[in-house]
Amino acid sequence: MIEAGLAPGDDSAVLEEVASEFRIRMTPAMQAAARPGTAADPIAAQFVPDARELDTRPEELLDPIGDDIHSPVPGLTHRYPDRVILHITKTCEVYCRFCFRREVVGEDGTLPEDDLTAALDYIARTPAIHEVILTGGDPLVLSPRRIAAVMARLTKIPHLDVVRIHTRIPVVAPDRIDAAMVAALRTERLAVWLVLHTNHANELTPDACAALARLADAGIPLLSQSVLLRGVNADADTLADLFRALIRNRVKPYYLHHCDLARGTSHFRTSIAEGQAIMAALRGRISGTCLPQYVLDLPGGHGKVPLGPGYLDETAPGRWLIRDWQGTPHEYRDPGA
Ligand SMILES: *Cc1c(COP(=O)(O)O)cnc(C)c1O
Ligand code: SF4
Repeated sequence: MIEAGLAPGDDSAVLEEVASEFRIRMTPAMQAAARPGTAADPIAAQFVPDARELDTRPEELLDPIGDDIHSPVPGLTHRYPDRVILHITKTCEVYCRFCFRREVVGEDGTLPEDDLTAALDYIARTPAIHEVILTGGDPLVLSPRRIAAVMARLTKIPHLDVVRIHTRIPVVAPDRIDAAMVAALRTERLAVWLVLHTNHANELTPDACAALARLADAGIPLLSQSVLLRGVNADADTLADLFRALIRNRVKPYYLHHCDLARGTSHFRTSIAEGQAIMAALRGRISGTCLPQYVLDLPGGHGKVPLGPGYLDETAPGRWLIRDWQGTPHEYRDPGA
């Protein structure tokens, strides 16, 4: 990072200390998109290690969203009745400084064959499961051949309808989304949805947009998730640019995550009130298609909860005070109450 001019040379001792705590990796595409030497660059801030990561707080957790609490077999998290997360790899092309799974990503690569078979057996004998979410790590670090093999095995499970892929690859390594990868993602029976993890419009380089177009043109519906990050995107203008750029590229913003309590990430974290104010400022100002849902993944494995902001208060049975997008309150009588 120092050689690439992304971190000042006099930081090397601190960077080594951070490196001994947390993995570091940044792709050529993201190095090219970052502006060297600019500490405030929103791409550098996501990937270049920072001394503030050594500041860990008592409220920060090794398993911030309680993945391990709901893991019936290795590699699988079954929190909600109808869907599971399958961690087919722990590797990523980049290591984000705010990663909520930073304690486990990068560990020992691909899920071993025995564990994968056990996970698929669990899914096959649990008919309530309709959707499998591939995440990791980043599932698209695997070769198209391996991905196609996993898809083929999932296709054989009759109660599955949907495979969802959570990935950062189309922005951080767009060249990996080639014809072979697009072909590997298509199955005869299952609907395949792709959720792109992206946090700033600068990530949507011409190459990234071309990769997204290849996926959209292949008929793969695209959603996005972003993390609300101080120093990267925590203001309404920056997020308006990001969400508009996504819609322009046929990606529907799905979730804006409140920053999880991973170790060494307090410099990124806003308050919930700040996040609500940003969402309120976006409502009405940009197209409703651009707006994601602002959510918190509750520590302890209790799942995701919408954080609002709220627009209505019940003042008496059936009587509501409802604020419009400009903040003006209006009385509404609910005839159905
Ligand atoms: C986030 C998550 C999901 C997906 O939740 P959606 O609200 O459907 O996007 C599923 N399982 C686990 C364990 C999760 O953490
Ligand atoms: S790509 Fe996702 S899983 Fe990988 S380091 Fe970044 S946030 Fe974590």
